[in-house]
Amino acid sequence: MRKKLPFLFFPVLVLTCAMGWAQSGKPLNVYFIDVEGGQSTLFVTPAGQSLLVDTGWAGGRDADRIVAVAKQAGLKQIDYMVLTHYHGDHAGGLVDLSKRFPIKNFVDHGPPMEETRNVPTTFAGYVPVREKGQHILAELGAHLPIKGADFTVVSAAAETISKPLPGAGAANSLCSGSQAKDEAKDDLLAGENKQSVGMVISLGKFRMVDFGDLTWNKEHDLACPNNLIGTIDLYLVSHHGQDISSNPVMVNALHPRVAVMNNGAKKGGAVATFETLKSLPGLEDLWQLHYAEDAGDHNMPKDFIANLGTGGTVQTGVPNEGTVYTIHVEARPDGSFTVTNTRNGKQKEYGPHK
Ligand SMILES: [Zn+2]
Repeated sequence: MRKKLPFLFFPVLVLTCAMGWAQSGKPLNVYFIDVEGGQSTLFVTPAGQSLLVDTGWAGGRDADRIVAVAKQAGLKQIDYMVLTHYHGDHAGGLVDLSKRFPIKNFVDHGPPMEETRNVPTTFAGYVPVREKGQHILAELGAHLPIKGADFTVVSAAAETISKPLPGAGAANSLCSGSQAKDEAKDDLLAGENKQSVGMVISLGKFRMVDFGDLTWNKEHDLACPNNLIGTIDLYLVSHHGQDISSNPVMVNALHPRVAVMNNGAKKGGAVATFETLKSLPGLEDLWQLHYAEDAGDHNMPKDFIANLGTGGTVQTGVPNEGTVYTIHVEARPDGSFTVTNTRNGKQKEYGPHK
């Protein structure tokens, strides 16, 4: 069943509720789960509702990891499942997960736009699972109906918002020097990346973004000539840190205080992306889900890296790694947040907005 969002009054209602939860003082918990260079990010709102962005790879390994984190977070179901796009490192684990854990609502960008990389098969496996729950088509500017925090869609189906979010819209002086990338190759082989459902997530003054694998030229459109997103506290580094994403004109405009990169041992973590991030004025720290083998000294000190395993392949990540670890963020309505590396308990506090 597909549910259309009632646009006329719904955003106001959702925002009012989200503001109420922000006043409750309870935190938003975010768990960045290691799926070996794919994405799986679990949100638990102050209202106790859950939203999972992507499911990692097929085969059960990543679904098992997600269920373990969900149970540790006290969940009995996933209330909202957002699939950013249908590549195997994001949607591959969906069927495996659905066999292990109940999922209630499904959010996606609509039909797939790519016929390679197993996308049609992945989508065909997803549809019967989706039919057992509610389907919400991600539409630009929509607020997802989850309680306790605000999730606003800013990209989907190769489109981006055209008007600034509240408080955003400043002219971006970097745009005149921006260089487009030739994404023709990406169009042919990976048209799904630019279809990514991208969201701005907020609780009170705390703001972060998850743009999936949104690519360079779409990022430009979100930030030029005006920054439609505004500034953020936390940047989930798009596309695992590959250098077809994290366009400096956008990342500079977002001005994040902290970045989290969901790279694998051999996937993402491009040197150019490390350089973009480390040159950002205002960025205090970068946390990594994995040591990036090809990035050498560009890697952060080990305290900031959740998983140190090496080997494996781009597709599988490190096999038989044993216990894997998570980057956990607890965010509060005053804009303050704590980041924890569950491997070694390394924890850092980032203060409230002034
Ligand atoms: Zn990906």
